[in-house]
Amino acid sequence: MAEEVLRVEHISKHFGGVIALDDVSLSIYKGETCCLVGENGSGKSTMIKIISGVYTPDEGDIYINGHHYKKLTPIEAIREGIQVIYQDFSLFPNLTVAENIAINEQLAAGKKLVNWKEIYSIAQDGLRKVNVSLPLDAIVGTLSTADRQLIAIIKAILAEARIIIMDEPTTALTRKEIDALFRVIHDLKEQGISTLFVSHKLNEVVEIADRTVIFRNGKKVMDQDAKGLDIKTMEFYMTGREIDTTQVVLPETEKVQTPLLKVEKLSLRGIFADVSFELMPKEILGITGLLGSGRTELALSLFGELPADEGKIFIEGKEVKIRQIGDALKNGIAYVPDDRVNQGLFLPQSIGNNLLATIIDHLASSLSFVNAKQAQQTVSRWIKQLEIKTPSSELPVESLSGGNQQRVVLAKWLASQPKILILNGPTVGVDVGSKAEIHQLIREIAAQGIGILLISDDLPELLQTCHRILLMRNGRIVEEFQRTDLSEEQLNTALIAETI
Ligand code: ADP
Ligand code: MG
Repeated sequence: MAEEVLRVEHISKHFGGVIALDDVSLSIYKGETCCLVGENGSGKSTMIKIISGVYTPDEGDIYINGHHYKKLTPIEAIREGIQVIYQDFSLFPNLTVAENIAINEQLAAGKKLVNWKEIYSIAQDGLRKVNVSLPLDAIVGTLSTADRQLIAIIKAILAEARIIIMDEPTTALTRKEIDALFRVIHDLKEQGISTLFVSHKLNEVVEIADRTVIFRNGKKVMDQDAKGLDIKTMEFYMTGREIDTTQVVLPETEKVQTPLLKVEKLSLRGIFADVSFELMPKEILGITGLLGSGRTELALSLFGELPADEGKIFIEGKEVKIRQIGDALKNGIAYVPDDRVNQGLFLPQSIGNNLLATIIDHLASSLSFVNAKQAQQTVSRWIKQLEIKTPSSELPVESLSGGNQQRVVLAKWLASQPKILILNGPTVGVDVGSKAEIHQLIREIAAQGIGILLISDDLPELLQTCHRILLMRNGRIVEEFQRTDLSEEQLNTALIAETI
């Protein structure tokens, strides 16, 4: 058996009422790629912070290279060869590649004078260690995420890492860049460096893991050789249930004379043109297309953020003008953006305040004043209705997992009682378990009589939630599919078909 570099035993960590880790033990062996998997909120990042000395566990022991720690400090962790590649990479954007790579050694040597030759030779040595080339004179701030990540990894190696920890390292990478990263991880292995690869993307885990550890709700629920471990089994351990995607029941669309929403020859110069469709009550209509197809801009037009310059919009048979967001809101249209972090939520604010943000007006107009008790009741009702997992509505939204943040966004908009709900990428960045739950929630929202426009390029998502799917290409609707007997493959072929 390979040498054990790190072992943690019976680790527990609480944050207020939340148990982030509950009696977890785990080891990392020399030269292995250990994947730590779990849904959002399962305790992965907390474990990393404990291993790297950022958090002190409430209980438990840490052993690194045979040394025992009750309270590990960040400096001790670094001395023991624990290196974390943080999402911001902790680089100096104004310095060059060479300077960034060499800076630690220069600082450690206490050099006051900059010796360019030495900086270059350290940097070149670093690049050789991962078998990549980067322009040494380039300013780091101008490089791609993937290149900056590489620099962070090289720095970790030069700092004599024995374990390199990567927390969701592929989030902002393209497929090609992910392949390059995986090659680097293989090189690390050959040098006897272990990687702790933290992710909830199971297809990547299948590709890269020697051993897989799964957390669920702060507990370790699986730890085994990755060979023969398939995605379905991992999903089962992550969520504690089988996810059945085959038996989805959509609400029956209401057969009415006048559609809830009718769009006629809507155009926005240079962006999309001649878009026409109808949406019925209880219907979930998918709009898909590649990036740049105009799908998001169409949604923004209907929401008044990018008003169309031609065409007509009818709501329940009555023509309406939507020139600004206020017009959309007045007409019962709500829009949930794909970028919930920047557009949908005030992260540092409490869950309660976020929920109330859009209804304050509604409450204030229908009642003569908003009293704290009513507000609290409304918040509690939504937390219960959408099953938002939190010990208190007073906590900041940023304390929630991605799936639960998305529920807060949905609740916030549902509270304004829209007739038409536009969802853009509703499960982007959400883990598998919460994803299935959000899909169920979308179907339930539709069943209440709301018409939903679901903009997405996640094909399984479209197939599991939409009655019909419109395909956009170069700003036009080029095809309409009925969900029944449409396969993912057919939809994919149509999506990526060459544009003429
Ligand atoms: P993961 O990385 O698997 O998504 P985390 O370790 O970030 O999970 O979080 C585990 C749990 O601990 C979550 O419920 C999260 O909300 C909570 N948590 C994590 N860090 C903090 C913190 N600094 N304060 C309060 N709660 C926290
Ligand atoms: Mg995390």
